Amino acid sequence: MTEHFQLLIGGQSTDAASGKTFDAIDPSTGEPFATVAEAGVDDVERAVQAARTAFDVGPWPRMKGRERAKYLFAVADLVKQNAGRLAELEARDAGHTIRLAKGGDIGMVISTFRTFAELAAREDDEEPLPRNPGSANWLRYEPIGVCGAITPWNFAIQMAAWKMAPAIAAGNTVVIKPAVQAAITTVELARLCLEAGIPEGVVNAIPGAGSVAGEALVGSPLVDKVAFTGSTEVGRRIMQLSSGNIKKATLELGGKSAAIVLDDAPLDYAVDGALWGVFFHAGQVCSAGTRLFVQRSIADEFVAELVKRAEELKVGPALEPSSDVGPVISDTQLDTVERYVSLGKDEGADVLVGGERTVVEGHDGGYYYRPTIFGNVDNDMRIAQEEIFGPVLAVMQVEDDDEAVALANRSIYGLAGGVWSGDTGRAVKVAERLRTGTVWINDWHMINPKYPFGGYKQSGIGHEHGVHGFNEYREIKHIHVDLGGPSRKRHPWWELTLPRSERPAPGPDTEGPNPGS
Ligand code: NAD
Repeated sequence: MTEHFQLLIGGQSTDAASGKTFDAIDPSTGEPFATVAEAGVDDVERAVQAARTAFDVGPWPRMKGRERAKYLFAVADLVKQNAGRLAELEARDAGHTIRLAKGGDIGMVISTFRTFAELAAREDDEEPLPRNPGSANWLRYEPIGVCGAITPWNFAIQMAAWKMAPAIAAGNTVVIKPAVQAAITTVELARLCLEAGIPEGVVNAIPGAGSVAGEALVGSPLVDKVAFTGSTEVGRRIMQLSSGNIKKATLELGGKSAAIVLDDAPLDYAVDGALWGVFFHAGQVCSAGTRLFVQRSIADEFVAELVKRAEELKVGPALEPSSDVGPVISDTQLDTVERYVSLGKDEGADVLVGGERTVVEGHDGGYYYRPTIFGNVDNDMRIAQEEIFGPVLAVMQVEDDDEAVALANRSIYGLAGGVWSGDTGRAVKVAERLRTGTVWINDWHMINPKYPFGGYKQSGIGHEHGVHGFNEYREIKHIHVDLGGPSRKRHPWWELTLPRSERPAPGPDTEGPNPGS
């Protein structure tokens, strides 16, 4: 029998009020393998109300950070115990190759919960401010309230963890809406939070369409903060919708990241690294190195090797351990990739390898595309400027470091970038000039929940991970205590209405409202 997954609202697994469901499609076969309850506006309202109540009167925001930490560690342990099932579900739903789902996705979920548990346990929610005569001042970090999280399909379970863990570690409550293309593991992760003892209503999961459930969640006046990961286009809409009650919004958006290969790069290593940078998860990665700038003096040799190894990559079903590259997420995504490849040809670029769909024996209905490399690309072509979100690489030649930096920075995006070089000093100089939130040197896709990750330019606003990411889920309150008592000299407020020249000079122990404010 087909497995059915329900919404999680206020601690209860429930179907949608409308009874609507959608099919979870396995992109490796093109066949449905489960059904999922589809949240509508009523369900969003129920979930937001549950999160609101859990925040306003529940114990969670009032607990000490070290107490909340225990629950987050317990979630990490439960994820570890359920690793096999979660990895398999992620592989079936999002098309992640099982090798990466097991080793990468689930490991990352565990370390994300552990990292934010450690940050919560540090109990650094109060911080002294510089001394000031006559008063004591400190900062207090507090949760923001109800967080509406909206996530993409490409790393469904990781994205869910990246949103849930910092939000609840900081004492907020969450309503998360995953993408319909891969929603199941988000619901499963939310259920594990409940199983770990996190109170009802603190984590709610409501798969549903962006245009219905997504809009209702971001537009709700009961939601205080929105954490969005997805395309830049939808990010713009999220900013508009958040403006109603001036929600705090963090946006993790698209990218067109540049890999720069300098003439002193170790060839073998850099070729493998560039392939991993772009073809990991069939190129459906925000930080994929989809533009490659190689120094002209080594370009022929480098590109020949790159093409040879790209041809050797095994395209196959996600659950097959020997597959190097899995399917793309859907028929629609396959069409998009195909459209861009034909556009690239029209623009005058040359397909060096791939450039077509492929059929995997026994999985005829799956959405497979061959790893594709374009040569003879100009950085102003659409295939070099727009996010394709498929296994397509645009290779360009550059004269020197200066030209590489200038072209790499010519993009509306600024998510990530990388430099391949045998000279670390030279690579660091290039890295410092790239206008992106992350730069990898002789590596790629190294995202660690301990270090901040975020985009420059149209790749986003704010950060995930680390203390910076944690603070995106905390309000900052300044508390001021007068230490002088009634004997203390203070300007009467009416003196402040005098012209500046007639006001008495403030003494060393006087403070007052800022007349300019
Ligand atoms: P998408 O923007 O189409 O959808 C993302 C989410 O937004 C989905 O849950 C969707 O249902 C929802 N949504 C769509 N329209 C909405 C609306 N009007 N109101 C509210 N919600 C709405 O993106 P996608 O295709 O799911 O994912 C791929 C994109 O995500 C790529 O652009 C990729 O670069 C980006 N991404 C960025 C990061 C990052 O950290 N910067 C990480 C992963 C993916």
